[in-house]
Amino acid sequence: MALFWGIADLVWMILYNFYGLDPESSNFLLYLYILPNLFLVLSGIFYFKRNLKKWHRFQLVLDGLITFVILSIMLSFSVYEFLVHSNLDVHDYVANLSYLILDLIAIEILVVLLMSARVSSLSATMIVTITGYTLYVLADLAYVYKALTNTYVPNSFIDSAYVLSIVIFGFSAYFEWVHPTLRVNPDLVENPENVGGNRRLLYLLEFPLILSLSGIMKWHALLLIVFFMGAYYYVSNHSQTAIKTEIQLMTERLINEKLEEIVNARTKALQESYRKLEKIAMTDMLSDLYNRRYLIGKLDALLLKRDTYFSFYYLDLDHFKVINDIHGHEMGDEVLKVISTRLYNWRKENLTIARLGGDEFGIIHLQAVEDGKASCASICKEIFELLSDKVVIGDYAFDVSVSIGISRYPYDAMDRESLIKHADLAMYQAKKINGDDRFVLYNHHHGAAVERRNQVELYLKQADFDRDFSLHYQPQFKIADQSLIGVEALIRWHQPEIGMVSPAEFIPISEETGMIIRIGKWVIDKAFEQIAIWNSDDSERSINQALRMSINLSPLQFDSVDFFPYIQERMAFHNVKPEWIDFEITENSAMNSGTIMEEIFTALSGLGVGISVDDFGTGYSSLSYIKRFDLDELKIAKELIDHIVENQEERLIIKAIILMAQGMGLATIAEGVETEDQLVILKELGCDAIQGYLYSRPITAGEFESKYL
Ligand code: C2E
Ligand code: MG
Ligand code: MG
Repeated sequence: MALFWGIADLVWMILYNFYGLDPESSNFLLYLYILPNLFLVLSGIFYFKRNLKKWHRFQLVLDGLITFVILSIMLSFSVYEFLVHSNLDVHDYVANLSYLILDLIAIEILVVLLMSARVSSLSATMIVTITGYTLYVLADLAYVYKALTNTYVPNSFIDSAYVLSIVIFGFSAYFEWVHPTLRVNPDLVENPENVGGNRRLLYLLEFPLILSLSGIMKWHALLLIVFFMGAYYYVSNHSQTAIKTEIQLMTERLINEKLEEIVNARTKALQESYRKLEKIAMTDMLSDLYNRRYLIGKLDALLLKRDTYFSFYYLDLDHFKVINDIHGHEMGDEVLKVISTRLYNWRKENLTIARLGGDEFGIIHLQAVEDGKASCASICKEIFELLSDKVVIGDYAFDVSVSIGISRYPYDAMDRESLIKHADLAMYQAKKINGDDRFVLYNHHHGAAVERRNQVELYLKQADFDRDFSLHYQPQFKIADQSLIGVEALIRWHQPEIGMVSPAEFIPISEETGMIIRIGKWVIDKAFEQIAIWNSDDSERSINQALRMSINLSPLQFDSVDFFPYIQERMAFHNVKPEWIDFEITENSAMNSGTIMEEIFTALSGLGVGISVDDFGTGYSSLSYIKRFDLDELKIAKELIDHIVENQEERLIIKAIILMAQGMGLATIAEGVETEDQLVILKELGCDAIQGYLYSRPITAGEFESKYL
């Protein structure tokens, strides 16, 4: 605005000084002076636009309206006459009219602005600006009045006022620069600025009053203005009340929103801590993998959906117990951690990996294809690869292998329990396979096996020992002179409903259920009774030889507290000499629990009975380990004897076993000898005795007596 005012003044000066023209008669200048007024109005409008949000609309319109009405009345009752009776030429007339209209708009803006700033005090910058604004408009109005009445004299008092107003604008611009006040308004204004009393409007009365007093405006116009202002006060008061109610409502709404925000934030925090708790609840503490609970939940969720094909993998580390027993549980935990980390790092999108507890892991494998056998195999391959590297902890390096059983939904089971059970069954089948990298997909034979097992367990509980059990005896011979040296007592079970059940089947079950303790006692009692008859001098059925009775023991029997007292008591009862008795303990069970076995073997030889290691050569114990025990005999496993004829390597192994046994002062007996060829080779290798179908199957006591009495 000031720029255009300056330009116009410059043109004035040029015209006057250089061209000697009368600037007052220049039409160009006349119109050029419209521009500063125009920009003045524009600056007002601009300010308005920026601050519009701060004001309540209805009150704004009301304020604008009353100002407009008052100005219109003033205009029509004062300047109007000059306009009508003016004798100016067209250009002068149009230009002055434009000045006037723009001035009036500027006044309108100014007044509305002042009224709108009801509640807030004006900033220093604003006060200075408004002063400049007012001065300019007043000067311009005076000019228009003078021009219309043809009384204007250049460079008079009016022009000084113009200059002063521009200087004031300069000041306000400087103020604004030093202390900026103009800010972009926030979107939401709780309290409009133009709410409050209407006192400021009273200032407006000054102008009509001055106009009336100076005689420019008629008195009745003043009355009209007062009337309108009265009306305005009435409406405005109502509007203020309405606005206050509105503000109250808005405040309430804002408070509600704030409350809602707080509630939302609280809820979020709660959800967050719930999520954390949930994570703890579903994570396995040792491994950071999911835990059993989570896996079960996941299985249930999948089963509920009924539309996803998936497989459940049951993983069990092989011989993990040995690591725990020999190196301690802390070492065992470290090994588990390493394995878990490998599994964790390997996890994929379609796999849920969890530690079920101990050395067992479970994996849910989502499958797209209906028959996912091939993908199961490739997943297993990856798992075996993961475990192929030794687990190194400190100075130790462990070879860890795993057995995997798999059941598939929906083929192998439709519910969670069966799925897990079937995978578990398949895993046990996998354990039975020799060699590494073992996995088995469940099939219904495994299920039938379980059913049979459960049935056997049930019948075993119902068994009447003396009626259903019997002992068969398999003779043992010295290779050197083929003389009978002893018998092995082997239990037979004739179940009335299902017939004969092999000890290979029911002994493991009786071990699992603990029934082996009672069965073992029954066997010991019967075998003692029998050997006492055969070895006594005065019995009719006496074979009159120092026959040896081999009795199979399960390691579980040592756990029962009355095991040793029972043996001693039965020996005394049947008059059995300790040297007639030989206890067989299988190699694997003998190795499994280290030091305790050492004590037991010592205690047994304290009784004076013999001890044999049964099925020697099928486990993974070393002879040096055996050396620590007080033993009498090694029974070379049938599995080794089976291939002795055609397999040179196996023959070498047996040779080594026999040589070392001799070195340690142990006798050797080969079991499961079926052919003459085997016998010849065993004789060559220096084996002491044999037991097998070649000479005799296990037979009843009666059969034995009729054969050897
Ligand atoms: P074991 O102690 O190794 O017994 C030898 C097994 O091999 C017996 O099987 C016997 O019948 C069989 N056998 C002997 N010679 C030959 C042969 O030349 N060819 C073949 N093919 N087999 C032969 P059985 O009687 O079925 O016993 C199986 C296993 O059950 C025994 O293996 C033993 O571990 C266990 N067992 C048997 N009776 C008892 C018992 O009273 N108490 C305990 N704890 N276990 C027993
Ligand atoms: Mg045996
Ligand atoms: Mg055996």
